[in-house]
Parts: sequence; C-alpha cells; structure tokens
Amino acid sequence: MRDVVVIGAGLAGLTAATRLMQQGKSVALVSKGIGGIQLGQGTIDFLGYTPDLIHDPIEGINQTVDDSHPYFHFSADDAASAAEWIRDLMGNDLLVGDGHKNYRLPTALGSLRPTALPQPSMVFGEPSGRKIVLVGFDRLKDFYPDLAAENLRRQTNPDGTPIKARAIHVDLEVREGEVDSSAVQFARALDSPDVQEELCRLVKPHLLDGEVVGFPAVLGLADTNAWKRISQRLDHDVFEVVIQPPSVPGMRLNERFTRLVKSGMKDPGAIHSIPDETGVLASRSRFILGGHVIGFDTDDDRVTSVTVASAGHPTTIQAKEFVLATGGFEAGSLAMDSHGTVSETLFDLPLHGVTDEMINGDYWGEQPLFRVGLKVDEQMRPLDTTGQAVYSNLRAAGGLIGGANRWREKSGDGIALLTGLRAADSIVSAGAIDSEEGSKK
Ligand SMILES: Cc1cc2nc3c(=O)[nH]c(=O)nc-3n(C[C@H](O)[C@H](O)[C@H](O)COP(=O)(O)OP(=O)(O)OC[C@H]3O[C@@H](n4cnc5c(N)ncnc54)[C@H](O)[C@@H]3O)c2cc1C
Repeated sequence: MRDVVVIGAGLAGLTAATRLMQQGKSVALVSKGIGGIQLGQGTIDFLGYTPDLIHDPIEGINQTVDDSHPYFHFSADDAASAAEWIRDLMGNDLLVGDGHKNYRLPTALGSLRPTALPQPSMVFGEPSGRKIVLVGFDRLKDFYPDLAAENLRRQTNPDGTPIKARAIHVDLEVREGEVDSSAVQFARALDSPDVQEELCRLVKPHLLDGEVVGFPAVLGLADTNAWKRISQRLDHDVFEVVIQPPSVPGMRLNERFTRLVKSGMKDPGAIHSIPDETGVLASRSRFILGGHVIGFDTDDDRVTSVTVASAGHPTTIQAKEFVLATGGFEAGSLAMDSHGTVSETLFDLPLHGVTDEMINGDYWGEQPLFRVGLKVDEQMRPLDTTGQAVYSNLRAAGGLIGGANRWREKSGDGIALLTGLRAADSIVSAGAIDSEEGSKK
C-alpha cells in the first residue's frame, strides 16, 4: 500500500507529489494525461489583478480576503516560501524572481501581462525606456510582430513615455523545404548552435544601436540558455514573447518538473530532502501516466482505494491518503450537463458557488461558472454544505478548488502551487501516515 495517491499531473499534482516525496512519503502519481502547464505561459503567476493591477503579488494575496477564495487560507509568508520552493526546484535557468514583483511582459498581441516568476529569457521584455525590435519568422505563422509592435506603442514605459517598438522579418528555414513550421519545430531546431548562429546572421544587420530584441518564444526547447548565446552573438539584450499553446516555455517547465518527479522516484538524491541510504524511499513511488481514475472505495469516512482504467481490466490502488488534483472544467474534472447541472466527475463532491445564472450574457463580463468548485478547509479537505470534511483523508489542490476567477485574476498557477504544497504538508504534519518503512514522522 502506498502512503498517498495523488490524482492529476498538472502543477498542483506535481507539486503535491514532489513535496510528499521530499518528506519521505511513497506516492502513486496517477494521471490520465499531462496537465495544463504546457498550455500556459511557462511562468508562475500568483496574482495579476484584483481587478486592479497588482504590483506585489505576494502581498497582494492578502487582498483576496473573501473566505470563498482559495487564497483565504494562505499568508504572504506561505506565498513567499512557495515561490522560493518552485524557483529553486526548477532552477534559475527556468524561473527567476522572488514573487514580490509582477514583471509586466509583452504578449504576442502587444499588451503587457503581469507575472510573478517569469523565465529568465523573458525578463528583458519589461518596458524600460529602451527601443524594442520584434523579430518575426516568415515560416512561423503564430507571431505577427507588426501587430504586436503597433499595440506595444500604445503602452507606456515606467516613466510614462510611450514604448518605442518596431518589427522586422527574417526567413529562417528550420526544416528543409517547409514553409509553415510549428513553434515546437522552431524550438527544437534552435537547440542547435548552428541554427542559433544562422538566426543571428539573419537578424544582426537589421538591428539599431541599443535596441532590445524580442523573438517569439521558440529560442530552444532543451537548451534553456539558447537565448543567452543568441544575445551574446547579437550583442543586444534579447527576450522571448510567449505565443499560443502549446507554448514552448510551458513545455520546458512541464518537462523539467515531470523529469524531476520521475528521477526522484528512481534516485532519491534528485529531490528527497531526507537521507535514504537504503533506496527504500525511491523504490516505493510510481508515476502512472495514462491512468484514468474512474472510481473509488470507502470505509466509513475514509477513502481506501481508487480504481484506474487500464487495458484488460481496471486496477485498484490502495493508499492511506489521497490528493485530488484533477484541475477544473478544462481537465474534465468539473462538468456541466445539458440541464446546466455542474458536477465534480470523480468523487461527486459538493460544489460551491453554484447559482441560477452560471453564464453571463456579456462575454467579457464576470462568469460565475468559473468560480464554481470545491470549498476546502485549512488542510485542503473538501467540505460538504454543513462545513464538514467529506472524507477525513481526501485533500484537494489546484483548479478544482472554487472561489477564484483564475484566468481573470492570473492566479491559477499560484493557487495550484500553494494548495498542492498545503495538501502535502497537512498530510505530513497531521502525522496522518504511519508508514511501515522509510517514512519519517
Ligand atoms: C490555456 C490555458 C492558459 C492558462 N493561462 C494561465 C495564466 O496565464 N496564468 C495563470 O495563473 N493560470 C493560467 N491558466 C490556469 C492554470 O494553468 C491552472 O489554473 C493550473 O495550472 C491548474 O493546475 P491543476 O494542476 O489544478 O490542473 P491541470 O493542469 O488541469 O491538471 C489536471 C490533471 O488532472 C488529470 N486528470 C483529470 N481528471 C483525471 C482523472 N479522473 N484521473 C486521472 N487524472 C485526471 C489531467 O490529465 C491533468 O494531468 C491557464 C490554463 C489554460 C488551460
């Protein structure tokens, strides 16, 4: 029997599984597919808007005082240590910042988007008063530098002056004879020093003194320092602009996190913070990707096992504790039927925030549907309508928890991170698991 089954491998599930393994718990991380990290920006957003622009996202979480909001359970200190945890885990070639500043980075449409922990390849995009030149690739249809530059010119630098931005185009062939390559094909090609050099050869003659050079975010997939080498060759500061999903920066983050979790299962030294001379810790955890959890068993107020659909016949996984990190509507974890009834699709847990008018006719207006989700206690245990934990050993994390408008607030990543850490920590600190071997209580 495992100590904990974590269901879902998005940011929340990966976070909870990693933290539990760092504390010596054996984990079965079961997920029907990869999570949403690579659909996002490859940054960690804590809080962008409330609806006013937030400058210090960590202190800003105190402004979400509504007790239905997931951040209600967290302090600024919790957020600061979560920011430090994920940044240190991912490494400073992938995430920078301490979370106390929202970087305002150009989007592919030329607006400015706040984020707490960007990738270092993005940081020079922050308006600073210097002129910006955006580079478009003729063979990449997902980035229109003229449009982005035009919109950027409508925005201002920190001193209030208009941003100066222009666009150039180059014809970089990343696959022989192909006129319309994808962002991922560009990124894979730009892992090669030869293609990096060719890019610089094409771009350099167009650059003016002092310009900061923005590229669509395809500057290497495996090579997270490609942007630095390109910057050195061009002798200009360089930044990446995230384009539409699947985003290359999101893929970098997802691959790094997933690899860390897998290697932590093989080699404890990779992520465990407690000694494991025997190799027991590592051998007891498993990552089951492609495992769709379709059912569960209970005994009194406890979940005892989950059922995973697999070829041939379903498999049962028993554990002492369970973390439900199955995301929101976008992951199929919440669903609405043709009668407008919203449900949690695995445990049929009670949902909060359900109203008669779930969808606002004003497309750009506040949509009550997006706030629907679980209500949880301090330990992240889903609550019923009387405020009692539905199951004593079931915790939730991430997009499944209601009360926030994650896209609008730019809070989805921070919520996934904080709730994933809290779900794991509360399992450990409650001494909930009396492990037979290797666990540290
Ligand atoms: C396109 C897009 C852009 C976004 N942009 C931003 C942004 O800019 N800023 C921001 O803060 N947030 C953004 N978000 C939201 C943010 O990504 C999410 O809030 C956050 O990542 C949720 O993480 P999660 O781990 O809870 O869920 P997910 O990442 O959705 O992961 C859920 C996981 O559960 C698995 N799963 C679901 N059901 C089952 C089951 N029955 N059995 C087994 N596994 C199951 C799925 O396969 C998946 O691995 C964006 C989301 C999307 C989709």
